[in-house]
Amino acid sequence: MIKKLLSSVFTKLLFIVICSAVLLNIILFGIFTHYVENSETSLNRHRVIYIRFLRDEIGYPPDMKKAEALSAKTGVTVIYSSLKESWITGRTEGRFPENKLHYRKIDENLTLGTLHGYHSAEITEGDSSIKFRFWPMTGEMERLRMYGWFMIGAVSLLMGAVYMLIRHTLNPINSLSAAIAEVKKENYDYKINRCGSDELAHLCNMFDSLTSEISRSIKYKNKLLTGISHELRTPLTSLRIAAEMVKDEFLRKDMTDDIKQMDTLIDYLMEGARIKYGALKKKYTDINKLTGEICNPYKEKNGRVVFVPHPYPIELNVDTKAVEHAVRNLIDNALKYSEENCEPVTVESGVMNGFTFIKVTDKGIGIPEDELKFITEPFYRTDISRNKKTGGYGIGLDICKQIAEAHGGKLEIKSVLYKETEACLYFPVEQ
Ligand code: ADP
Repeated sequence: MIKKLLSSVFTKLLFIVICSAVLLNIILFGIFTHYVENSETSLNRHRVIYIRFLRDEIGYPPDMKKAEALSAKTGVTVIYSSLKESWITGRTEGRFPENKLHYRKIDENLTLGTLHGYHSAEITEGDSSIKFRFWPMTGEMERLRMYGWFMIGAVSLLMGAVYMLIRHTLNPINSLSAAIAEVKKENYDYKINRCGSDELAHLCNMFDSLTSEISRSIKYKNKLLTGISHELRTPLTSLRIAAEMVKDEFLRKDMTDDIKQMDTLIDYLMEGARIKYGALKKKYTDINKLTGEICNPYKEKNGRVVFVPHPYPIELNVDTKAVEHAVRNLIDNALKYSEENCEPVTVESGVMNGFTFIKVTDKGIGIPEDELKFITEPFYRTDISRNKKTGGYGIGLDICKQIAEAHGGKLEIKSVLYKETEACLYFPVEQ
């Protein structure tokens, strides 16, 4: 959390603003104080004249009585010390911050000091020294403190305003990351719709036009794909009829097999397009019953499929045709990539961690670990399955994944090479 906060652009900008404000204040205050205290201003000249005047007022050598009168009249504390005597007149109570004062030497004999309303002047004459201490006026420190608090309040308010302003300025970045998250979910029609003419608004508008362009080209590709698939259906039917009339048995089988494969490919392409871009036709279905019905024909045909149902019905709102398509594809794969004489393929339905699952397990050739992440990509086939000459286009798992994701679920495949492959479709219970 703290790491995230520190690396945020917003925090960095705020930090830069605060640092610049503090530095600017220190620099300006430094220059101003230096000018006021060290420059030859009329005020400084009068301060020196005034100190000399006070010195004259108490006489040569300094007279304690005169000093007392001066202290009573002006409130100044006079401290005299020489080898012969030392005395002090005027105010002695209260702490005078002698060590903290900023001192400035005017000439050989005179040093002036100042800090927050406290002033001092020291005149040295041979072995003796006279110090004048000027105290702040009654209420002066309170007023100073009040001004200090007022300043802190004003600066905090200003910082608050700067904070809101930076937040507002950086808002498009939040919109942009929300939009990217939507695009990641393949929602290309999501728009940021940001008004304004600054660089960030421009970036958001560019993002919107980019997603519009992507959405347009995907729709175009999809239309083209379904169009071609659809148009291929009719000539393929004619070809199938023509192939069935071929007299040479081998040639006929070859031709009908090829046509069947092309038919399957078209089926996959059209199902993929329907799932991804068409609306799902959902209805409440008992997943247990549905999986059992899918398994039955396989059991009857080759007896290599065993169904392990969940003990209770699992009602789920799904597109039955799509789920059927996906489960069938997984069972076909399990049969295709395992030997006839090995253990049967098991199909299991169940509920786990808020998901309904349909799991198909086979004891076949398996999938190399480094290829597992690629097998749901369209047209990807592992090397060992290619060697097996099982046919197929490597598009089935892609459709299965799309079907699961269109329902808010996922497809998970685990495999141990030459031992076991487990393909599992998950559908969220709450949809
Ligand atoms: P295909 O039509 O080639 O079977 P799929 O998309 O269904 O296409 O599968 C992609 C690839 O994943 C297959 O070519 C195969 O290499 C591998 N595969 C899928 N299921 C299994 C399995 N049960 N056992 C071993 N390999 C599998």
